[in-house]
Amino acid sequence: MKRICLIATGGTIACVQTEQGFVPGLSGRELLARVPDLGDVAAIDVQQIMNIDSSEMQVSDWRSIARAVFGAAEAYDGVVITHGTDTMCYTAAALSFMLSDLRIPVVLTGAQRPLLLEDSDAVNNLRDACAVAVYGEAGVSIVFNHKIIHGSRAFKMYSKNDDAYVSRNYPYLGKIENGQVIWQHHAKIQRGQPRLFVSLNENVALLKLTPASNPSALDYVAKYGFSGVVIEGFGTGGIANLNRGMAQGIRRLTEERRMPVLMISQCPYDGVNLAVYGIGEQAAKAGVIPGNDMTTETAVVKLMWALGKTQNMSEIAGLLESNICDEITGERKIQPAD
Ligand code: ASP
Repeated sequence: MKRICLIATGGTIACVQTEQGFVPGLSGRELLARVPDLGDVAAIDVQQIMNIDSSEMQVSDWRSIARAVFGAAEAYDGVVITHGTDTMCYTAAALSFMLSDLRIPVVLTGAQRPLLLEDSDAVNNLRDACAVAVYGEAGVSIVFNHKIIHGSRAFKMYSKNDDAYVSRNYPYLGKIENGQVIWQHHAKIQRGQPRLFVSLNENVALLKLTPASNPSALDYVAKYGFSGVVIEGFGTGGIANLNRGMAQGIRRLTEERRMPVLMISQCPYDGVNLAVYGIGEQAAKAGVIPGNDMTTETAVVKLMWALGKTQNMSEIAGLLESNICDEITGERKIQPAD
């Protein structure tokens, strides 16, 4: 029989009603006990590594999850991680970078309503996640509402709807129909030995621009000890007030402080291309690194990862612009569905 390691971390799926509202209370074992037919799919062992609302998830928790997955990878056919939906995309992106050349599926799932509620979406999501852990392809994914989404491409679109996540700028990896896993897109094949990298540098700021943004926000980033910043700009690469001090503000970071400035778009789809407009070209000249079509979650995590690898600015730029785990489109060939 196939073997799954279920790593339980909390989230709505595990919530119980309290006077303070929903609070994670069920253990991973208790979740499994309420869906006994999961035992028909695989023999499932549980590791409870925390039981928290995912809003409280820290970078150190990503490390604990990554270590647990890495430790389980030898002995199991797949890993399922139950997790709160709110920051699941950050954790999925983080695991995509921290765990390379995985040989097994690592599947995050959760629910919009606690498993204990009658109309919960938890049971379907758990069943689907276990099916993907056993029959899916290697790598990190989110399985939710019958969809399989690449770990570095997921975006939480709805705070209540069962169909909470979309795959941004990347094909869905597949779907689950009546318990059957239908794999539709094969992500990059990695061939090295499985590796664990946990030295993320968490001192990354995220700055969402508005037309009123001014360089003082960048100076704040410099003053308060950040190591790098992700700027969410406009459209294909617009930066507010570039000619009214913003370009100099960026230079103070990139040239004087040797701090990477990675730019992504506020538009959910298509991403940035700094070559399109004069404003984008000026941003590039000031040292902005284009984040192409990455999600915010992935851009933040990738910058943490690159800063954890090196302090050399050109190496950081090279890492950010390389396609490590399908977080940047462009180089891959989409293969036809099976
Ligand atoms: N606040 C919850 C969490 O992220 C939401 C959920 O799981 O759906 O832990």
